[in-house]
Amino acid sequence: MKNNLQNSTSTIDKRLEWQTVKSIMKEKFGIEIFESWLKKIELIDEFNNYILISVPTRFIRDWITSRYLDQILKIVKEFKKDIIRIEFKVRENKLIIENEVQTDSKEQKNNNISFIKDSFLQYNRIDPNKNFENFITGTSNKLAFEASKKVSQDIAHYNPLYLYGGVGLGKTHLLNAIGLNLKEKNKVMFISAERFMYQFVKSIKSNEMVKFKDYFRNTDILLIDDIQFMNGKEAMQEEFFHTFNALLDKGSQIIVSADRPPNKLSRIQERIKSRFSGGLVVDIQIPDYELRYKIIKSKTDELKLFYSNQIKITDEIQKFISSEVRSSIRELVGSLNRIVSFSRIYNKVPSLPEVKIILKDLLNLSENKVTIDSIQTIVCKFFKISKNEMLSPRRSRYLVRPRQTAIYLSKMLTSKSLPEIGRAFSNRDHTTVIHSVKTIDKLRKEDNELNINIDSLKNKILYKQENEI
Ligand code: ADP
Ligand code: MG
Repeated sequence: MKNNLQNSTSTIDKRLEWQTVKSIMKEKFGIEIFESWLKKIELIDEFNNYILISVPTRFIRDWITSRYLDQILKIVKEFKKDIIRIEFKVRENKLIIENEVQTDSKEQKNNNISFIKDSFLQYNRIDPNKNFENFITGTSNKLAFEASKKVSQDIAHYNPLYLYGGVGLGKTHLLNAIGLNLKEKNKVMFISAERFMYQFVKSIKSNEMVKFKDYFRNTDILLIDDIQFMNGKEAMQEEFFHTFNALLDKGSQIIVSADRPPNKLSRIQERIKSRFSGGLVVDIQIPDYELRYKIIKSKTDELKLFYSNQIKITDEIQKFISSEVRSSIRELVGSLNRIVSFSRIYNKVPSLPEVKIILKDLLNLSENKVTIDSIQTIVCKFFKISKNEMLSPRRSRYLVRPRQTAIYLSKMLTSKSLPEIGRAFSNRDHTTVIHSVKTIDKLRKEDNELNINIDSLKNKILYKQENEI
């Protein structure tokens, strides 16, 4: 890391190593904030004095801008000192969902590479927080859970155990729990298939093949995560197969996870697939509502305990998340973390419309744009003035407040720039827009009635078009 820093500052032309920037963000802001808000930032392009990044939603953009942007800029400056600002692009909803899986695996790759240390002996991390006790079961994962427990009690009975299922459904959690359970009394090796490949290649290059073989063949329990990434490379598969057989022969337990069943693995030798199929193959399916709700409830309780009961997330919201965030448990837990970080910063229980904004990129609601025009209409109706009055140059008090409110809401609820908003209000200057936003922001803190009015206007705007948030 240090080396990187020095190298990059001395060569200005060098491209930013975005993964490194992100890993520094993770360190600096902590895992909770990183996972909730920053993980999905992508670098789109670099220019002489600014960079363009993308985020999933406007809300996340605003959130990052108001809380973390200064510090992110500082980090970026360490690498490229000429950068003086950061610009955002908000990604389209659809695109994110499609890209999700790809970025995930890409990220995994980069992470793996950047974390590799001197020797594979050092890589054997088992996370104490992913255990059997906090793994919540339902119809979709009960079999996988029970098989994993069984394997931890009764080694080499089901061998190998092959767990498969989609992204974020708990495979790594279960593998980790098995490792945790067995590591007191056994030599446990927990490794991702990608890292296995990397270590393999590295051992060949550094003439340490013997060490590599010995190490793997000496383990009692071999846990290999995401075996679908172990493809190609004949020599490596050969080695893996030998290791695999040697371990089975001596009664070691092997546990493998993958995103698909053995016969669907591509570019993996038939005989390896058939050995996988020969053990116990169990899948984890997408969680149903009941399990999702159970997980949300239990995680909320856990968080409450952690924050000494300062966390309040209404049952309505818990149910909402459980019913809307469906595809993975990782996203489900991630949603909750975001809401908690929102509620801690604002020191308030988020409302349902707010939750919809916070989680927009994770929800599958179809998009319907909030326009400045619709904001003006609703605000005018609320304050009982005409649109002509709102757009007129007149500065009577009864017009100024509604106008400022509409401008403020346009800034909050659309992705329009300050000049664009100014133009939509009879060509007002962008400084007028800034002034209005600041004024309302300030008033919201002082004037409770106005604050309530604005919240209710926001709901009207968002709800009138039921799907837009
Ligand atoms: P996978 O490896 O299948 O992609 P993970 O094991 O990494 O998924 O799970 C994603 C996140 O969801 C982790 O934080 C994990 O602890 C959590 N998780 C998954 N399943 C459960 C469960 N049944 N109960 C509690 N937490 C879970
Ligand atoms: Mg995993």
